[in-house]
Amino acid sequence: MRNERMLVTGGAGFIGSHIIEAALAQGWSVAALDDLSGGHRENVPAGVPLYEVDIRSGESVRAAVADFQPTVISHQAAQASVSVSVREPVFDAEVNIIGGLNVLGAALESDVQRIVFASTGGAIYGEVPQGTADEHTAEWPYSPYATSKLAFEKYLETFQQQYGLDSVVLRYANVYGPRQNPHGEAGVVAIFAERLLSGQPLQINARSELGDGGCLRDYVYVGDVARANIAAASGDFPRRLNVGTATETSTQDLGDQLAQALGVEATLTFASARAGDLQRSVLDDALFRQVLGAPLSLAEGLKRTAQWIRSQSL
Ligand code: NAD
Repeated sequence: MRNERMLVTGGAGFIGSHIIEAALAQGWSVAALDDLSGGHRENVPAGVPLYEVDIRSGESVRAAVADFQPTVISHQAAQASVSVSVREPVFDAEVNIIGGLNVLGAALESDVQRIVFASTGGAIYGEVPQGTADEHTAEWPYSPYATSKLAFEKYLETFQQQYGLDSVVLRYANVYGPRQNPHGEAGVVAIFAERLLSGQPLQINARSELGDGGCLRDYVYVGDVARANIAAASGDFPRRLNVGTATETSTQDLGDQLAQALGVEATLTFASARAGDLQRSVLDDALFRQVLGAPLSLAEGLKRTAQWIRSQSL
């Protein structure tokens, strides 16, 4: 049994709850911190303490961290929607920057040895017109969400230099898998699955000038994101790692593959691109493969996701 203790902010959310499961399986003592604004108590495994705290409240975050005494904080809690950030950039910054700084402040007052941060490869590099973006590609934050994530990455560097607080940045591609919220503004796999199973058409937001099968994205299975977080939590690890698959898939292809995995027919409608959405984003996965082995293929990941969705509707 390890004596390491992991606090997962956003632990009642989609990705955070998978990190908790993976950490428990590796023998970590784990707690979740979440204000339940997007997450659900039921996502937190039984026996795992949940601190119901808004990270915008520095005092509450400090109290939770002082109580649980984590050695590692996996910081997943965020305003995680690009479209919300476009509409409400101040709110986005309050959660993603000020809230994040509250987490770092609490970590400094406690015995936290490392922060693992959920950043975004899907948004931070801006348009990737061809090829893949690796960890050295220049950032081009196109939405307030991407900017707040990049700003927090910079704060992590500053906290490392100024206060010696160790950190790892994980830049996720588009994450999908069991427990993703179908009612949010992001999470196309979950949204499409719900629509497919209720016989509704899938809306493809066509790329503005190209008007074809929608945006091109790199879809990564949540299990790969969880194992990256666990590996990043201890020992030698790259300071920054893309968590993606280097494979591009259009929204239309995704809808077709998901329909196939669910064993239903897809009907499509087309609309124009949404504000803040990129046309193409694909991440280099060479470093991921070197550190963690191959990511799961989209076909296999969609199969697992479809099985889970089917098991929920029984
Ligand atoms: P999610 O919405 O399921 O999880 C986020 C969790 O944070 C929720 O449980 C929510 O209740 C909690 N939260 C939000 N605001 C909070 C606040 N002020 N105080 C405390 N808790 C708060 O989203 P997710 O997809 O699991 O995202 C997890 C992290 O991964 C986020 O940081 C997100 O930006 C990042 N990310 C996600 C993706 C993706 O494709 N899902 C891609 C790149 C990065």
